[in-house]
Order: sequence, then structure tokens, then C-alpha cells
Amino acid sequence: MEIRVLSPDLAAKIAAGEVIERPASVVKELLENSIDACAKQIFIGIQGGGIDQIRVTDDGLGIPFDEVNLAFQHHATSKIATDDQLASIGTLGFRGEALPSIASVSRLNLLTRCQGSDVGCQAIRNWGFSGGVTPHGSRVGTSVTISDLFGNLPARRKFLKSPATEAAKIQDLVYRYALAYPEIKFQFESGGRTKMSTSGHGDWLEAIESVMGSATSNQMLYVSGEDSDSGYKIEGFTGAPSLNRANRNNITLLVNRRWIYSRSLTFAVDEAYHGLLPEKRFPICIFNLSIPLSEVDVNSHPTKREIRFHKESKIFSLLQRSIRSSLISDSPVPLIQSPNMERVSSGFSTSAYRPADIYNRTSYSGRYGKKCEIDSLAKPGIGHNGEDADSRNILDTARQVIPKLKVIGQIKLTYIVAEGPDGLYLVDQHAAHERILFDQITEKAAAKT
Ligand code: ADP
Ligand code: MG
Repeated sequence: MEIRVLSPDLAAKIAAGEVIERPASVVKELLENSIDACAKQIFIGIQGGGIDQIRVTDDGLGIPFDEVNLAFQHHATSKIATDDQLASIGTLGFRGEALPSIASVSRLNLLTRCQGSDVGCQAIRNWGFSGGVTPHGSRVGTSVTISDLFGNLPARRKFLKSPATEAAKIQDLVYRYALAYPEIKFQFESGGRTKMSTSGHGDWLEAIESVMGSATSNQMLYVSGEDSDSGYKIEGFTGAPSLNRANRNNITLLVNRRWIYSRSLTFAVDEAYHGLLPEKRFPICIFNLSIPLSEVDVNSHPTKREIRFHKESKIFSLLQRSIRSSLISDSPVPLIQSPNMERVSSGFSTSAYRPADIYNRTSYSGRYGKKCEIDSLAKPGIGHNGEDADSRNILDTARQVIPKLKVIGQIKLTYIVAEGPDGLYLVDQHAAHERILFDQITEKAAAKT
């Protein structure tokens, strides 16, 4: 076949394929534009999993009337202008590819007005073709409505999942951004029903509560750290080990507040929890790493989710160390004190038994500044450092509490089923075996003294 230059329309569709894979990619690009435009409030509404319609409305800076057409051209951006700016990108967008890409595979309606302009304007695009830009009354900010996504690309549309699955992917994405930007008020609707809203007050823990619920936010531990050598900083919240999930989907990593995916940094999180979580269980956490812009290359992937670091090993150890030390100092792990041994910790805890549900969080105020203050225990009898009388002998108490049991069976070679005076008991064989070993070690140690 003879070599030829593709038509602009076909070339645009190919370029769009790189950036816009599914409805969630559209939402990501529009959200990032709203955040870059300094929006304080962002509304996201979808219909039919975003395949039928997506609307993102913000109260940001807006686009000047005479620049609206330009915004739909490939490589047209207001975010960078020179080579050296490419080496230190501080905005989420910079490629000038999103609007033209989205417009080439959908029907798009954009309403925008800049602060100080008397009137706004409306731009219409159908499958990449301009339907014109006309003056139009609108609020300050920008509202983009996308309909019939991939209506002109049946091959791509065919690969989309069900509307419910696509909606779930969008919801997940919106939640990450709501967590990453607690100072922005987010509202998310799917099929006309509000799924989530945040206050925009800038309180990080409050945003976690709005997105994940208070049962989760109450078990989050504050994490912060700094590498004195490089000046890299980390701040965030990590779940107590009791708060765990079956996959890594709840690990949210931000670099300079850009949500990223990094295999190696996810592994750093795994490492920090090593020995603290049951096998194949993973934590819930969100961290922001502040790294000088010039030491991060965000221009390595069209969707900008995978980025490169100059000193990845430093980031790895900062992340791992900071999480681990927060878990060690704050985590609610039982400490067992034997009558004959100094202090026996079931793992790593430095303080006495501190179940998460009796943490009494007082405040986490400010955007990223202040440590979540966790009150010392409100319960009588259990105090710090295992010094309180009632916390002294958990082992003996346990012995007294468990009555004589009659074994009646076994489930999947894992649980022993037993009958006691007050009902049925299920004994985790693995845990019971560990306990027997522990008792044996305790007795041996006692015999030596
Ligand atoms: P990029 O974000 O990489 O610059 P886009 O194609 O996403 O490229 O957007 C092109 C330009 O349109 C942006 O640089 C910005 O100036 C303008 N723009 C897009 N969306 C918005 C918005 N919500 N508010 C203000 N300006 C916007
Ligand atoms: Mg953009």
C-alpha cells in the first residue's frame, strides 16, 4: 500500500484513542481542567455510566471568548509555553490534547464565562466538527457536557463495559480527586442521584469521612515525614491494620497532588505493613508526596498517570519509613504483658492495648498542616506503656474466660468447631497454634529466670 498522510479527522481519532479510553478518562480530563482553573466547586453528573452523558461544571477562571476555538486545537494550552516549563510542570494538564480528543469522539457543548466578562459563550462540537461559538448567558466558570461518547467509533464503544461498571469507574476516580483536594467542594451525581458531596472546607480527614464514611475515617492514622537530604515530604493518612481490604484499590498515591500509579511505591506501602496485615489483605491509605517539580517527569505517559522520579529510592524509603513509624506509634495493636517477661509485644506496638473504636479524635484542622490529635484513652484501666494495673495480665484473663470446650468438628482444615456451656465456638487453628507456641516460649523464659 502506498504511504500517505492520514486525514486530520482520522489522525484526531487515533490521537483521541490514546487519551480517551472510556468515560472515566473524559471525567478525569475535565476534572483536571477544572482544578487547573482554580475551581472552588466542581459538579460532576453522569447518565448511563457516562456513555450517554457526562457534565462537569466548575466555578473556575473560565475561557476568554476569543480563545475558545483555540482550546479545541491539538497542542493548544495555556499551561506551558517554553521548553524549560516542560521540565517543571505544576499544573495537572499541559499537553493541550484533552478537549480536541474528547470533541473528536463525542457531541460536546461548552459554556464558559471569565470573571470580569459581561457575557459568556457557548461552543458546540459534533464529532470534532465545529458548530460555532456564540455569545451565551452563563455563570462565571465552565460547564462541559459530553453526549453519545464514541458514537462515531463503534469499535471503541463495543469495548466499554456495562453502564453500571463504567459508572463505578467514574465514581472511583471522582472519589480520588475529592480525597486529593479537600479544599474543593465536589458533588457527584449518577443517574440524577447524589452519590457523594464534600464540604470543600479543606479538612482532609473530613473529606475522607465524606468519601469513605466515618467507620473508615475514624481508623485513619496521620502520617508525615521528610527526607532531610532531598527535602522530599510526605503527608497523608493510613488505615490502622484492622482496616484492610482484599485488594490494593484503596491505596491512593499523589505526587504534588497528581493521582499517580506506581508499582514500586505501592510496594513501599506493602513493605510498611509487612507482618501487620493478614496474608492477601491490603491497607486503605492516601498520601501526598511533595517533590520539587524539576525532579519529577510527568511527561512520560499520555494519561499522565505513570510518572518518573529522579530519585525513586529516596521516595520509596521515605514513604515506607513514615508509614511504618506512624503505625508503630499510633496503631491499635494489642500488647500482651506476661507475668514473667518484661513486655511482650504481639508485633510492634509501643503502647498498650488501644482499640481503634476508643480513639477519641479531637481535631484535624487546616489543609495539610496539623497532626490529627488522638486523645489518650478514655477507658479506665487501660493506659499508655502498659503501666496500668488492669492491663497487666491479658493472658491470665483469657485463660479464665474460655471455658472447657467439646470438639465437634472441623471446617476446611482451618477452623475447629467446638461446643461450650454458652454456645458454639469456632477456633482458628492457625491462631491457636501460634498461641500455643507463644505460651511455650513464655514458659521457657519464665523457667530461666
Ligand atoms: P491542557 O489542559 O493540557 O492545557 P486541554 O485540551 O485540556 O489541554 O485544554 C485546553 C485549554 O483550554 C487549557 O489549557 C485551558 O486554557 C482551557 N480550559 C479547558 N478547560 C477549562 C476549564 N474548565 N476552565 C478554564 N479553562 C479551561
Ligand atoms: Mg486538560
